[in-house]
Amino acid sequence: MKYPDHLCKLIEVLKKLPGVGGKSAERFAFQMLDWAPEHLQEMSDIIKDVPKNLKQCSECGCLIGETACAFCNPMRQVNNSMCIVASPRDVFSIEETHEYHGQYHVLGALLSPLNGIGVDKLNLHKLRERIAKYHIHEVVIALDSTLEGDATALYIKQELESMQITVTRLAFGLPMGSALNYVDGGTLARAFLGRGRF
Ligand SMILES: [Zn+2]
Repeated sequence: MKYPDHLCKLIEVLKKLPGVGGKSAERFAFQMLDWAPEHLQEMSDIIKDVPKNLKQCSECGCLIGETACAFCNPMRQVNNSMCIVASPRDVFSIEETHEYHGQYHVLGALLSPLNGIGVDKLNLHKLRERIAKYHIHEVVIALDSTLEGDATALYIKQELESMQITVTRLAFGLPMGSALNYVDGGTLARAFLGRGRF
């Protein structure tokens, strides 16, 4: 016996969420059948309003709600540093450290020619303009330590070479609380290269 059509549709939609396979989607869908209609409506309304209420700032690419961009405020603009990240979510991770107080520039993706993501897909057209406009002294590249992250970082470094600015990249090293013999060779090698004065 097949599931009713609408249940199949619900399962298919839920399967689009990251990490949700067919079995999990079925479990979620059956769980929803027990929800009160107003709870289903509330969830549906919140999802429907995502494009209207959550946007990326046209200047820096950070995520904004219904108010002006909190990351484009004048206090940050006098800092003369700009941190380049791949996604708006990375901004919140960096903010949690309380170690950075400058501006951000969100690329939206990482270079990945095999997946059809070339330079044209990255939000780079405004980068040089913003660096000049805000008299940026340091560009901090905060991208993943992956092939795509490395390729993107290298591309940006080359792009900015002609500008009189310092380009830095976040250090890669040992995870907090880790024992040396549990760390993989690649991480240990990067930690050695990025070692700092103690
Ligand atoms: Zn902004």
